[in-house]
Amino acid sequence: MKKIKTLQCIRCGKDHKLTDTKYNCTACGGNLQVLYDYNLIKKRLNFEVLKENPERSIWRYLDILPVASIKNVPPVQVGWTPLYKAEKLGAEAGVPNLYIKDDGRNPSASFKDRASAVVTARALELKEKVITTASTGNAASSLACLTGSLDMKTVIFVPETAPAPKVAQLLVFGAAVVMVKGTYDDAFELCLKASQEYGWYNRSTGINPFTREGKKTCAFEICEQMNWETPDKVFVSVGDGNIISGIWKGFVEFHRLGIIERLPQLVAVQAEHSDSVTRALEANTTDVQPVSGKTIADSISVSLPRDGMAAVMAVRDSGGFAVRVSDAEILQAIPRIARGSNVFAEPAAAATYAGLLKAVREGKVKENESVVLLISGNGLKDIQSAMKSVGKPHVITPDLAELKRLVADQKLA
Ligand SMILES: *Cc1c(COP(=O)(O)O)cnc(C)c1O
Ligand SMILES: [Zn+2]
Repeated sequence: MKKIKTLQCIRCGKDHKLTDTKYNCTACGGNLQVLYDYNLIKKRLNFEVLKENPERSIWRYLDILPVASIKNVPPVQVGWTPLYKAEKLGAEAGVPNLYIKDDGRNPSASFKDRASAVVTARALELKEKVITTASTGNAASSLACLTGSLDMKTVIFVPETAPAPKVAQLLVFGAAVVMVKGTYDDAFELCLKASQEYGWYNRSTGINPFTREGKKTCAFEICEQMNWETPDKVFVSVGDGNIISGIWKGFVEFHRLGIIERLPQLVAVQAEHSDSVTRALEANTTDVQPVSGKTIADSISVSLPRDGMAAVMAVRDSGGFAVRVSDAEILQAIPRIARGSNVFAEPAAAATYAGLLKAVREGKVKENESVVLLISGNGLKDIQSAMKSVGKPHVITPDLAELKRLVADQKLA
């Protein structure tokens, strides 16, 4: 692929050819990033070309993705999710220029589809027979969804605590599901061993350099949907750190291509006991250390982030910062986002709004700034947590007299 210049190690800087390695740096084991021939791409991809492009999915950015052609991509629409101006929610937060990027509107109902689509397309080009991943749940259900109709076996490793709706997706789409008695980190290690033992193509976050490529497309869409005006801040919840580093790469690439003039600040939102990236930023180091990882927000429940170094660099390079939120704040944010913007978010996605409220309280967001909250997963992904954030329904017999008593007692309307 002529457009790709190198796979460069984020840690030691070593360059690799596409044929040298499928995963990590061969010298130090660090994560790789795909760098392109940006002068070549500049000739094909610019503001005018994008405005004329009718494709409404991540494949509108094919010129800057590590895939040769769209003949061989999963046949469902990934990306080009809506960006809403959230008037009511913004007024409540004291940030009138608030936008919601609703990535729950992807085929498997999470942001992870962006990465799975690119990795699956890559696997098809490599003629892989079996694809595997470890996941807290969403990366897995996404991969199972996107490979569902393809001639490729999918083997999934999830912790036994994965929410039931995500497990249901895996089974419905026909993946082989291995539930590991342990944490996400345990599932990750086992998946890695399986990939080495059997030669299965591994999509796991961090070690596969192509997930970040899919994830960056969200930044491209935000630029286009905001009419090429870069927002001041983008709030992203962080577990492994691959989404936030991908989004940063997207903004940096559009800037490098001259498509946008300014870069945004990124704000990493983490659960208080799953806060490795926040700790590293506070200690001013890229050496990310493990923590307990315990939080109700399963999608960001991570002990050792698999793309932590890249996440720290993304936040730092953008001039942004990190905030911690409690599980109680995350749960409260679910109905507030729903009632303030009509969007149902899973806990990890709702964390961004909890993070915004905290940042506003601490004076880190000014009233006139434009802010995008990334809603990374749909609320139906984890109804047990959603139900903890709200009251109970009224249960009555089908009788008007009983309804009248209820209306009078409870002032239903
Ligand atoms: C995976 C995920 C995240 C966190 O992304 P990382 O790359 O692990 O930091 C946030 N929200 C949802 C819904 C996710 O599925
Ligand atoms: Zn290296």
